[in-house]
Amino acid sequence: MDCIFCKIVNKELPAKIVFEDDDLLAFYDLAPKAKIHILVIPKKHIDSVNDLSQSDSELIGRLFLKIKEIAQKLGVDQTGYRVITNTGPDSGQIVHHLHFHLVGGGKLGPIA
Ligand code: AMP
Repeated sequence: MDCIFCKIVNKELPAKIVFEDDDLLAFYDLAPKAKIHILVIPKKHIDSVNDLSQSDSELIGRLFLKIKEIAQKLGVDQTGYRVITNTGPDSGQIVHHLHFHLVGGGKLGPIA
């Protein structure tokens, strides 16, 4: 499968990793749109939110708790941050491996 994020998971592509365990990976976005811009992904390939199933409930729950921990570690939990998941063409999703953008480190513009 030709998936950039699977290649990062498999260490075939480099990334600046901030967290890794058996199921989750968090790394800095290559083209940051904010002072802090981290991507948090499940290692397992899931195309998008549309492809989540009941059996992914625990995985996604743990992923969100990890986002909270990373925000604390990077010191934006009190100043604020945004978690974004693009899904499908209208959202501008480019990489079709489920990922959550954690952006912060400064005032963010309105989402819409
Ligand atoms: P999305 O539009 O939600 O699919 O966003 C994909 C994100 O992945 C963009 O913010 C890209 O800058 C980022 N990205 C693409 N390739 C890499 C890479 N090799 N390492 C880190 N981030 C990447």
